[in-house]
Amino acid sequence: MVIAVVGGGAAGMMAALSAKREDPSSEVVLLEKNEKLGKKIFITGKGRGNFTNSRDIQDFFPQYIRNPLFLRPALQAFSNKDLIDLMEKGGCRCREERGGRVFPASGHAFSITDCLKRSLKREGVLIRYGARVKQIEMKEGRVQGVILGDGSFLSADRVIVSTGGLSYPSTGSTGDGYRFALDAGLEVTNCYPSLTYLVPDEDVAALNGLRLKNIELSVRNEDGKSVYKSFGELEFVPGGIGGPLALSASCVTTSVLNGKGGGSRRFFSMHIDLKPALSEQQLLNRLARDFSSSGGKSLERALEGLLPARLTREFLRRLRGDGIDGRERAADSSKETRRRIVSLLKDYCYTIRGTGTFREAIVTQGGVSVKEIDPRTMESHKVRGLFFAGEVLDVDAYTGGFNMQAAFSTGYLAGRSAARQPLSEHSRSRRQKS
Ligand SMILES: Cc1cc2nc3c(=O)[nH]c(=O)nc-3n(C[C@H](O)[C@H](O)[C@H](O)COP(=O)(O)OP(=O)(O)OC[C@H]3O[C@@H](n4cnc5c(N)ncnc54)[C@H](O)[C@@H]3O)c2cc1C
Repeated sequence: MVIAVVGGGAAGMMAALSAKREDPSSEVVLLEKNEKLGKKIFITGKGRGNFTNSRDIQDFFPQYIRNPLFLRPALQAFSNKDLIDLMEKGGCRCREERGGRVFPASGHAFSITDCLKRSLKREGVLIRYGARVKQIEMKEGRVQGVILGDGSFLSADRVIVSTGGLSYPSTGSTGDGYRFALDAGLEVTNCYPSLTYLVPDEDVAALNGLRLKNIELSVRNEDGKSVYKSFGELEFVPGGIGGPLALSASCVTTSVLNGKGGGSRRFFSMHIDLKPALSEQQLLNRLARDFSSSGGKSLERALEGLLPARLTREFLRRLRGDGIDGRERAADSSKETRRRIVSLLKDYCYTIRGTGTFREAIVTQGGVSVKEIDPRTMESHKVRGLFFAGEVLDVDAYTGGFNMQAAFSTGYLAGRSAARQPLSEHSRSRRQKS
């Protein structure tokens, strides 16, 4: 039996490995269009590779934005513990960090790829680099093989598509798998950039690089309904507002902000509580106390004790809009002025009208519809012998190692199922002739 795996990222490497381990007599060919495997893995977790999470596998499901239940059989077949075990046995020692995030102890994401590559070689998987698959050949609802960029045909009894999504196209993920799925008559849901920065409708370039730590962010839709709320960190980045909280908020807003008919007409409001540990009354009392003992200090100077300097300037601009002059003596400020300052501290707002693009997005939301795929095997319902794994599927998650675990688990299940499925009469006679 010949099993062709298209795409050598996390999902593809794992699919090839599990297929070969399941049936060592099969010929497993891993086709990667780049000159190396796992180009994306290299840049994950800021180059340190947060490849899974140590929490209980049951607690993974709430971390998936779309179709968490589809992933149940894959996560059960190959859990975070199985993945860590495979890495350790393959010579990649692992280390757990804040929030259960698991990284290679080396501090380098390439240790993940090195470990998998060694295992692939040891098992005898054939790796072909610079091998771009152009088309998947199918006949009478059954896979036949793949056509490569140079026009050559590779006959295969099973094809596993693990070509990734659309994010960071420079790593090789250019959405080819969606085309293969459409050619096979499968539904592909709309794709959106996710885990990316949010774009406010005002220029925030002056705040670029500023980090707001220990803040609370809530995001509301046009109707004022809360769609996201959490505590943590934001960072102003070129083009918008990033940092962990904004990235997570993008997961639940991207389809609306980037959806058809959405764009500039659709928006969310972003509410930042800069002092979540203090109530409005506590803040009012503090301002009254601090301002009255501030001597000749202006409001501007007095605020510097409460906020980072660059944010103070933006803050004062907003206060000016309310007729409050930052040059006035803090000690002379009215209760109304102090109330306005407190309301800004507790609810510093932006209107969000967009997100970063696929160029900067960590993950793609949307993809091959899970309705088309058997979750117990990863095989497509419509074409026998055609399997899908990894980010090409309509599955995405928050940060924390859950996206890579999904790629590894679905890859594992696809490989194992592809190798387990007995050859049909048709395939057997085709193999005998060739
Ligand atoms: C900057 C960044 C940081 C990230 N950090 C984390 C993190 O810390 N933790 C986490 O869990 N997730 C992280 N992710 C997400 C995670 O990396 C991906 O979800 C996961 O790697 C997807 O794996 P995949 O194998 O499905 O796809 P990919 O990694 O995209 O692999 C697809 C492969 O297929 C190849 N290919 C595509 N088309 C063809 C074709 N036609 N023929 C042959 N080969 C083809 C590509 O070259 C590529 O090598 C991060 C992503 C980015 C961009």
